[in-house]
Amino acid sequence: MIRINENYLKLRPSYLFSEISRRVAAFQEAHPGKDIIRLGIGDVTRALPKACIDAFHLAVDEMASDSTFKGYGPEQGYAFLREKIARYDYRSRGAEIHADEIFVSDGAKSDTANIQEIFSGDILIAIPDPVYPVYLDTNVMAGRSGDLGDGRYKNIIYLDSTAENGFVPGLPKEKADLIYLCFPNNPTGAVIPKDMLKQWVDYARHNKALILYDAAYEAFIKDGSLPRSIYELEGAREVAIEFRSFSKTAGFTGTRCAYTVVPKSCMAYDSAGGTHSLHSFWNRRQATKFNGVSYPVQKAAEAVYSDEGRAQVKELIGYYMNNASLIRARMQPLGYTCTGGENSPYIWVKTLMDSWDFFDMLLNKAGVVCTPGSGFGRCGQGYIRISAFNSHENVERAIDRIEQVLK
Ligand SMILES: *Cc1c(COP(=O)(O)O)cnc(C)c1O
Repeated sequence: MIRINENYLKLRPSYLFSEISRRVAAFQEAHPGKDIIRLGIGDVTRALPKACIDAFHLAVDEMASDSTFKGYGPEQGYAFLREKIARYDYRSRGAEIHADEIFVSDGAKSDTANIQEIFSGDILIAIPDPVYPVYLDTNVMAGRSGDLGDGRYKNIIYLDSTAENGFVPGLPKEKADLIYLCFPNNPTGAVIPKDMLKQWVDYARHNKALILYDAAYEAFIKDGSLPRSIYELEGAREVAIEFRSFSKTAGFTGTRCAYTVVPKSCMAYDSAGGTHSLHSFWNRRQATKFNGVSYPVQKAAEAVYSDEGRAQVKELIGYYMNNASLIRARMQPLGYTCTGGENSPYIWVKTLMDSWDFFDMLLNKAGVVCTPGSGFGRCGQGYIRISAFNSHENVERAIDRIEQVLK
């Protein structure tokens, strides 16, 4: 008899974005022709940088001729891209990361989801609340959680991110084995200062634990004192894996390219106390289950590091950050406390009421879609997330309407 993985039965139905769609559709049906502005989705809206498109086209043409055609590439990614990443994203910022420690992939979503399979089934996981749902759900699927009770899974350490701690969770009392951190954060937009990240690195070293650091939004950091990579901190090379993506940085959400850094000095332990290199485990995993990102996409990603590419990406990020500044600057005078939006494309707004009630009010009275914070975890109750990913014109129109409603 074919039996299912019963861990899937523990999963909470993925309710957030389907419920948003349902409420938006109901509103549209009741008010046909009424224009809706979406500041809810974590997806970019502007075209790929020209440097990327040019490189993409050239690489497609190479595929058209037998003499330049490329078949299977290296599972870890082409050296031309891995070398640029190591040089521009790490060594130029004083982080000692080498090309062969970088694994190019089709997304930080898949990598943050898949990485857990190289660890034991009975390790203790620490996950922030509110959170990007992938970290939690993939561990539930793998059987690392207990059942759901009162909105939380048993056997998971929740790291509460609240106004009290500035949305940067402190160290847990328990000994976590695997810790997920995401900065700049989705959904709160919060950033972590170097000294606080150092505490996490020290905690991991002391407990022989590992940090999974999701830096998908590092390109949005403007404050030069903030770490853009965990490897800017001393000692992190032994206890951290970092995830990055071209998705939000360069508009690759539909094109798909990301990378994961597994330093060769990162170790984990077997039950007999033996030491193993996570780099060789992840390499084995990828070589077995993944066949690499397409050549034209990797050429398009490489162009991000050319002179024109870097200038165009800077302009792209600046455009969204201009939206973020506008949202903050206009929400705060209305009496709404905002986190984020200064070094991240998300603004986390304290609603002074239930998240979904606030969502309904903005939808019904302003025709603006946001994301209810409670959909990201218990600590998100009483907040909404507003995204800066839209045209400047739409953001301005949305804020004009929100102002009318909240004034
Ligand atoms: C958007 C996002 C990513 C990137 O995902 P891709 O699969 O690379 O598109 C990763 N982590 C977080 C928290 C995100 O919001």
